Amino acid sequence: MTIGSQTGDRGRWLTLLLLLIGVLAPTVSVLWFMNAAIGNQREASRQKLAEAYRGQLRLLRDGADAMWAKRGDDLARAVREGTAAAAFQRVIDRGLADSVIVLDDAGRPAYPAPGRAIAVDALSARPDWMAARGLEGWKDFSGAAAAYREIAKEARDPDVAARAAQGLIRCLARSGDKAGASRAIEEYFGGGRLARAADPGGRVIAADEFLLAAELDPAAAARLTTLLRDYSGAPIPSAQRVFLMDEAGGAASFPTYAAERLAAEFLSKERVQSTAGALEASGLPDTWKLAAPGGRVIGLYRTSTVISAIRGLSGGMSAALGVHPPGAAPAAAAEGLPAGAALPGWQISLAPPADARSEIDRRQTLSYIWVALLAIAVVAVTALAAGQAMRRQWRLARLKTDLVAAVSHELKTPLASMSVLVDSLLDDAAPDPRRTREYLELIARENLRLSRLIENFLTFSRLERRRQRFEFTATRPEEVVASAMEAVRERIPADCGIEVTVEPGLPAVQADADALVTVLLNLLDNAYKYTSGERRIVLRALVRAGHVVFEVEDNGIGIAAREQKRIFRRFYQVDQRLARDAGGCGLGLSIVDYIVKAHGGEVRVESEPGRGSRFSVALPCAPAVHGAAA
Ligand code: ADP
Repeated sequence: MTIGSQTGDRGRWLTLLLLLIGVLAPTVSVLWFMNAAIGNQREASRQKLAEAYRGQLRLLRDGADAMWAKRGDDLARAVREGTAAAAFQRVIDRGLADSVIVLDDAGRPAYPAPGRAIAVDALSARPDWMAARGLEGWKDFSGAAAAYREIAKEARDPDVAARAAQGLIRCLARSGDKAGASRAIEEYFGGGRLARAADPGGRVIAADEFLLAAELDPAAAARLTTLLRDYSGAPIPSAQRVFLMDEAGGAASFPTYAAERLAAEFLSKERVQSTAGALEASGLPDTWKLAAPGGRVIGLYRTSTVISAIRGLSGGMSAALGVHPPGAAPAAAAEGLPAGAALPGWQISLAPPADARSEIDRRQTLSYIWVALLAIAVVAVTALAAGQAMRRQWRLARLKTDLVAAVSHELKTPLASMSVLVDSLLDDAAPDPRRTREYLELIARENLRLSRLIENFLTFSRLERRRQRFEFTATRPEEVVASAMEAVRERIPADCGIEVTVEPGLPAVQADADALVTVLLNLLDNAYKYTSGERRIVLRALVRAGHVVFEVEDNGIGIAAREQKRIFRRFYQVDQRLARDAGGCGLGLSIVDYIVKAHGGEVRVESEPGRGSRFSVALPCAPAVHGAAA
């Protein structure tokens, strides 16, 4: 028995281990596959995205090439007509460049042009001019003014006349005659032949005089602004124009102001030469130059203008477009491409919006996790079901072994003693009637014990196989007690008096009467078996707290507190030798417990070793009907 149970235990552990491996191995595989699948999926979607981005970038690059080629053509077309200054203004007005250098046929800057070298002043040879200058030097402003006026009137050359008028106006202003000076400006430069006259440095005199007019009378400022905005009229050199623009309000008043300054700065730093067709770095920081076909114009572009021009081509792209000048690399996560032939050294890149990629990944990962969880759940549930089935099989196998062992052992004793008694009766040639009777009574008792054992085995076997059916009917407790007492009389000698107390008017219980009789019989049997000497056994039926309670009390050997739970387990016996002598096999109380529970009731034991035990079975007065055995 011990060896058998050891082997069984080993087998059970082995099976458990196999079951565990059976669950763990697929679980680990599923997790591994899931992890690999997520990784592959991520890589695949990254590559797909990168491929799509490269396609978009190629389109963008071709678009950028076409755009810069068109820019070049537009620039060339813009400077084909009119003066260089007018061409300058046209390019800026049309937004074709941040600034521009318009070249002449020889490839020299025509607008803006470098300052002209000051020639020897021809007027210094004229005595009347020198006289007027002398008077002005002596602060004889009215005399000087008269002399200048005379020259202005006489002179044929508009440049000379204009310079004399300038002297006249200067003297009027210096003498404090502001109104006279303003009038003279209007008179000489308000229109007509002096409007385009220039001084030896090439400066347009009218423009300077309009600045003076604005200083004398702020209401006259508009005339200067209009003149400076007009690139097709007087040929104002760029340097003079920038100076006057600064005086008259700067960038806020003149759309070409920034372009003028950029061009001037460019010319001060660099000699003009450029290869047509591509954007090249200029001598200025953050500034790029583009020579248009035909060699008549060079467009200047700030880095920010180049970037926003390319960005303008990418309308509708969801990803973040990066435009990187030479030396600035795109971010690691971005997909990059050279920006095309027009932008040597530049790169364009597309980076996926951070949330878009993580959203795709999240959704895919989630679906994998769900599939994995489902697979693991299926494995776990299958393993659980297999485990349950195996547990049941083990239980049944063990039960069978125990039952066979118990049956063979318990049946052997009464059969052996009966056989001895019968043999001795048969051997006796002239049997003594008194002895014969005594032997027959002994045989009858052994027989009873045998049938009680078999009865318990059968009941137990039925219960275990769930074949026991209970028939619940309204049952009177006193009838159960009476039936039990009648049955017990066969088993327990009459000299062992059993005291019976039944409370009057007990309510009926919903129960299987035969099963309840079995319960009481088993309890009374035990009370008899485990009591020696002068027995005092009491059977009570009473009502307590809404329950009908059957109590069986004895003054027997009692049960230790730690054993009181165990005695309800099947085949459990506190003292095996004693129990066997008494003719038990450890099934009685487990049968009691099973039947009482099937009735929705409860069995309890109160006991003290050496002082006796009291078993109470409480059944609800109006119990829930359980139908067939659970
Ligand atoms: P058995 O057939 O061995 O009596 P039971 O299931 O009826 O099996 O009882 C289990 C064990 O509980 C008994 O072996 C005995 O040790 C103990 N037992 C049961 N009833 C009593 C009692 N009235 N007094 C003392 N011990 C008892």
